[in-house]
Amino acid sequence: MPLPQDFMDELHERSDIVDVIGSYLSLNHRGRLYTALCPFHNEKTPSFTVFPETSSFYCFGCHEGGDVISFVEKYENLDYMEAVKLLADRAGMTVPDGSDQRAAQRNKRILEANKTAGRFFFSMLNSDSGRIARKYIRDRGLEDRTITKYGIGYAPESWGALRDYMNGKGFTDDELIDAGLCFRNRNGSASDFFRQRIMFPVIDLRGQVVAFSGRTIVDDSRKYLNTRDTPVFKKSRTLFSLNFAKNSEQHRLILVEGQMDVISLWQAGFTEAVATLGTAITAEHAQVISRYVNDVLICYDSDEAGQRATRRAIDILRAAGIDAGVIEVVGAKDPDELIKKSGAAAFRALIDKASGSMEYELNKAARQYNLDIPDDRVKYLEEATSILARSTSATETEVWAGRVAQQTEVDKNTILYTVQRKRNSRRSAQTRRENDKFAQSIGERYNLRSYEREKLGTVSAERRLVALVCAHPDLCRSIRERISGEDFADPGTGDIFNKICTQIENNEFTGFTSMTAVLEPEQISALSGMIAESSSVQYKPQDADFFIDKILENRSRLSKDELANMSLDEINRMIKNRKGN
Ligand SMILES: [Zn+2]
Repeated sequence: MPLPQDFMDELHERSDIVDVIGSYLSLNHRGRLYTALCPFHNEKTPSFTVFPETSSFYCFGCHEGGDVISFVEKYENLDYMEAVKLLADRAGMTVPDGSDQRAAQRNKRILEANKTAGRFFFSMLNSDSGRIARKYIRDRGLEDRTITKYGIGYAPESWGALRDYMNGKGFTDDELIDAGLCFRNRNGSASDFFRQRIMFPVIDLRGQVVAFSGRTIVDDSRKYLNTRDTPVFKKSRTLFSLNFAKNSEQHRLILVEGQMDVISLWQAGFTEAVATLGTAITAEHAQVISRYVNDVLICYDSDEAGQRATRRAIDILRAAGIDAGVIEVVGAKDPDELIKKSGAAAFRALIDKASGSMEYELNKAARQYNLDIPDDRVKYLEEATSILARSTSATETEVWAGRVAQQTEVDKNTILYTVQRKRNSRRSAQTRRENDKFAQSIGERYNLRSYEREKLGTVSAERRLVALVCAHPDLCRSIRERISGEDFADPGTGDIFNKICTQIENNEFTGFTSMTAVLEPEQISALSGMIAESSSVQYKPQDADFFIDKILENRSRLSKDELANMSLDEINRMIKNRKGN
């Protein structure tokens, strides 16, 4: 029996791939990657690479690859369950046994109930009784595309509308109470929990509706009402809209107070906002966040309570190793109001002020060090002078060099001299070039097109399409409309492609790690290779069409026997041979 998904999620969450592999090998930090000498083959220069963003590893020399579990399997020579057990012990978790089967079945019913209820609420928004809700939504300036994106609905003013609908769909009262959609009233039967509220489905990272948040539209002391904790929903670790925000290009999150803030920010183009659900931010939230970003900007209400919450949030985030900055909203009570009053540009300016300022950067650097320790002071000085070297304003450099001088008790002129020297040598540019060169060398090794334009171009496009769909699962549907794995010249890649798409369509895909549950060991290695080859590329949606065109266009021209029957290994061998010539 497969292990429960929530157990596996937590195991992956607690088994950081850099930490785990770092406990076996000595890893070198290179930009966004880590490298080491490969433990699986003999080598003098490192080609073993760890990719924290996808929680995968891949060796460009011997083509071993996989996730944290496959690494432990291979390194410790264990089978899958033994490796899971070892990692669970390390993370202080217990591997669940068969008795969890019933719980798994119950969780499935809760998720189904939530999905059905979400449809009900959504349809209520366009019913007669939803008129008051539609007016509220219009007054708040929400557009149709936003309502659809977030699946916003309406819970009518009734104690039994949802219950009756759900009973009709085959859900028992007990199941509705389990899901937190109903509560048991004095007669012992079920009553609707949400009434006369705008309903926001809470969607987890797998795209499942795990709970609801209802915002009152009448005078009610409780502005937001959230589903209580259930077997599929823990307030202390769930963030509203993280399912969308984690894919945003900014590589940071904006933490706001309410769901309406998140949604109006999204509508204004800020896709990286999240909110907690009826609780202050917890260490567990911070843990979840740290899986995706290292930077969080806190944007709470400007009142007294908001200030207190901000200070608490900063402490909690920093304890999890996350850099926390503060966006101060001036001239409005929250971001929602600010955007309505002054537009998106006004909010953009506040973000820039919070995240780009010299002060923010220097504070961020200072937080990493204990300035009472001389060694740390030196490291901080090194970093601070690099930050100062980026400034183009002499006054700004002066002012902040003075501050750094105070912090480190180093003469200000010495600091200014160092800054000048750094500017001259443009060290940061050089580091960038080095990282680029490394990324490029990865790219070159795998730029199949340069070896055999017509034939291998197709295989390369196939591998890239797989990496692309992993990075942009939201594009899966439109990609599938044009192509399926059966169209691939390499059937191995085609099979992996199909399995990924199936998982995405079933809302079970969370990235490379969720795929490892359904792939054969060789396929895990192969997929980690495809992800590794594309690790230095930021794919855009239109690239999908380019790859698909390439695959379909060359398909008819391929000598089928040559390629269609080749395994990945054979293709790799062929490339090696060609390189040798
Ligand atoms: Zn190797």
